[in-house]
Amino acid sequence: MVTMEGVILPGNSTVEFREFEVPEPGYGQVLVKMKASSICGSDIRAIYRAHLGKGPEGYQPGTIAGHEPCGQIVKVGPGCKERQVGDRVVIYHISGCGVCEDCQHGYMISCESSFRAAHGWQRNGGHADYLLAEENVCIVLPDSLSYVDGALCACGTGTAYEALCRVGLNGNDRLLITGLGPVGLAAAQLGKAMGAKPIIGIDVSAARRKLAEDLNLVDYTFEANEDALGKIKGVTNGKGCEVSIDCSGAPAARLLALQGTRQWGRCAFVGEGNTVEFDVSPLLIHQQITIYGSWVTSLYHLQQLVEHLDRWGVHPDITCTDRLPLKGAATAYDLADKGQTGKVCIVFDE
Ligand SMILES: [Zn+2]
Ligand SMILES: [Zn+2]
Repeated sequence: MVTMEGVILPGNSTVEFREFEVPEPGYGQVLVKMKASSICGSDIRAIYRAHLGKGPEGYQPGTIAGHEPCGQIVKVGPGCKERQVGDRVVIYHISGCGVCEDCQHGYMISCESSFRAAHGWQRNGGHADYLLAEENVCIVLPDSLSYVDGALCACGTGTAYEALCRVGLNGNDRLLITGLGPVGLAAAQLGKAMGAKPIIGIDVSAARRKLAEDLNLVDYTFEANEDALGKIKGVTNGKGCEVSIDCSGAPAARLLALQGTRQWGRCAFVGEGNTVEFDVSPLLIHQQITIYGSWVTSLYHLQQLVEHLDRWGVHPDITCTDRLPLKGAATAYDLADKGQTGKVCIVFDE
């Protein structure tokens, strides 16, 4: 039996290594040699600190972690149709039942069937040398994109792209982003490529504001405090932004995103967890604002995203500040948990 080491998350802010059999691809499945497998905020929030996730966010104890996998196909099972050995692929990280309305739309994230399983949650993920995936969720990575680019697209950058598509972001819009963690940075990077200007980023962390500035992804950054709204208004002719997106999940940041949205504007909530409370009439109804909720992305939008990144010459991997080998997984999770860095990614030997 050929084995590999895989990372599991016991749920007490630690990382454990376990021995797993290298799987054999079954019908319609492929075996992918992992090249990059990044850490998402959801891993920290719902699994790493404690197993808080329920339903689709319920972590099956003993499952190999990592739901942002990217690698190269090394074996194809019987019945595979298009994917071949040697293909560089990003894996849409949820396989669904394939027959419900959500799956038909490519939103396997929203599939409610008992057949639904997400890598890193209910089926083995990318924090091991190999990953067993369904052929039909493997998207070929354009040559210009790196494996780290691909990994980031599998959840975080895909989530930012989906939200910007949902609100119809375009070159007429100014963009306000509350929360400059990995998803916020991705929203800035994609928002810029889609023509939004200026882009305003808000965060409590000076390190994260500096990173967004150093990467040249934002036009302004402001500290998240009681002066932030005035500063946002100050650089938008007193009006606020046509589009705002909260990527933090913090109640105060959600409120700020809404307050910083221009009349008739669109506001998206992407950051998970917590609550929000606001005066509905003055802030929402009288402002004629539309609020959107947006959860991860669809298979088709992931495909579209990597195609656009290739065309735009945009590389999500520039937001990856920390790359560690699989052996350094404990450090990687600790860094991601501290929330002061950009994206943290496990990388494998080429
Ligand atoms: Zn995620
Ligand atoms: Zn389904």
